[in-house]
Amino acid sequence: MSKRKTLRIVLGDQLNAAHSWFEQPEPHVTYLIAEMRQETDYVVHHVQKLCAFFAAMERFAKALSAAGHKVIYLTLDAAKTAMPLPDLIDDLCALHKFSVVEYQRPDEYRLQEQLQAYAAACEHEVFEWDTEHFLVPFEELESYFKPGKAVRMEAFYRKVRQRFDVLMENGEPLGGKWNYDAENRNKLKVADFEHIPVPLKFTNDVSDIIARLDRHNVRHFGKVEASLDMAVSRRQARQLLAFFCKECLPLFGCFQDAMTANSPHSWSLYHSRLSFAMNAKMISPREVIDAVIITYIASPDDVPLSGVEGFVRQVLGWREYMRGMYWVNMPDYASLNEFDASASLPEFFWTGETRMNCVRHAVQQSLDRAYAHHIQRLMITGNFCLLTGVDPDAVDRWYLGIYVDAIEWVEMPNTRGMSLFADGGLIASKPYAASGAYVNRMSDYCKGCEYDVKQKHTDDACPFNSLYWHFMHRHRERFQNNPRIGMIYRNFDKMDEELKAATLERARQLMSDIESL
Ligand code: FAD
Ligand code: SF4
Repeated sequence: MSKRKTLRIVLGDQLNAAHSWFEQPEPHVTYLIAEMRQETDYVVHHVQKLCAFFAAMERFAKALSAAGHKVIYLTLDAAKTAMPLPDLIDDLCALHKFSVVEYQRPDEYRLQEQLQAYAAACEHEVFEWDTEHFLVPFEELESYFKPGKAVRMEAFYRKVRQRFDVLMENGEPLGGKWNYDAENRNKLKVADFEHIPVPLKFTNDVSDIIARLDRHNVRHFGKVEASLDMAVSRRQARQLLAFFCKECLPLFGCFQDAMTANSPHSWSLYHSRLSFAMNAKMISPREVIDAVIITYIASPDDVPLSGVEGFVRQVLGWREYMRGMYWVNMPDYASLNEFDASASLPEFFWTGETRMNCVRHAVQQSLDRAYAHHIQRLMITGNFCLLTGVDPDAVDRWYLGIYVDAIEWVEMPNTRGMSLFADGGLIASKPYAASGAYVNRMSDYCKGCEYDVKQKHTDDACPFNSLYWHFMHRHRERFQNNPRIGMIYRNFDKMDEELKAATLERARQLMSDIESL
């Protein structure tokens, strides 16, 4: 590699201290880490998301400097950070006489396009590096995924389990089964509440960052306090991983899908909260998986294989799978809208002010913490948007803005694909559509709700019930022959005609006045 003066770009989600770039300081290399307006403004973000990224970037820059690397760290106060990234790079190259520019391959299509276009047009030599983060190398994604072709996560997951030899024994899945999902669907009972771990929180002063955001009029929403409690450095990420393995992993699988409104820790439960740390690359998926498996090997009596497999499936399976589906299907994926859904996102997604207890709880928690766990995202807010036919662009913007871990490569396939079925089934073999019965089975939300989960069409009937049947009814042609949900239509057909008509009418009324829910 050239010894000419080199500028290396570190994007906000490339805080990977284990990257080969950082093995040792090189006198001809300077790193650029910058709080860019193009990143604060491409969607309206939750204020905690902005703070978390900037705090993590600052700490990373300090750690690099302390290790002897040359670093240019630009905050929003530097006027240049309002430039598009290519202009900023050119500006710094002119100022500091860099003749070589290097960057790590961005995980977002938007940034990859921008940097590739820059590389093609600029005067400098430009080199692209791998991020050295994911297990499946980028170049190999096309051997697992094909554009426009449905690939099921389970098939991918089995291949990568074998390939990386994770939870395998003599070529067979450990314990004899690939998937222990059936054992991972318990509801929390009152007696379980006292055992829910008190979440590990950190103290990260972000008051300067909040002041900068305000000073530069960066649009944002959500609550923030001067101290951010999420992990924003590699050290904190490792502490969070250790905490997860010790306190949460034993019951992670068991309560993976459970939701409650009645514990002070209902927002965190047994979840790892490692998504931001992983997505910002402060910690690698391999490190996370290895720690979980080591915990299992050390104490198999306390940590059931079902939970370990359930967790490994999320990180090795879903996370790598979503990245693959995103990259082989972009840019077309971003405009898929299978059902031509066009309804507006209700205002209560921004305020939490709705009488639906489950939605209120999931939205309020997201506004308070920039975090919700998977089933809240999929089966509460996502399910609501699916059933009511909200425009996928609006749904994408909401998810991309509100969650601290939201980066398009993982947000979009989860939202547009898994949750909204807007990709026509590239990701999910059937829509994750559910009535109130599901919510009632997996949570205690319904007990505290103004609506009655047992009713379908009365004025106080749970909105999810009629909306569910209306969704199934309006997409009958698309789904009645689907082997996974055809049975639902046979149940619907057996319903009393008056009940059917009243249920569909109730859904029509709700959808015409969605803000009143
Ligand atoms: P845990 O429950 O502890 O799970 C462990 C890890 O598994 C997570 O940290 C995550 O890295 C990985 N994981 C689990 N499920 C998925 C999944 N479906 N796709 C990819 N990785 C997964 N995850 C994001 O990281 N960013 C997003 O923007 C995002 N948007 C989502 C939008 C919708 C509509 C849905 C249904 C899911 C979304 N997810 C997203 C996936 C998942 O909900 C979050 O990864 C998880 O809730 C993060 O919390 P945790 O770290 O406590 O996860
Ligand atoms: Fe949600 Fe319906 Fe239950 Fe209310 S009754 S919490 S709206 S599922």
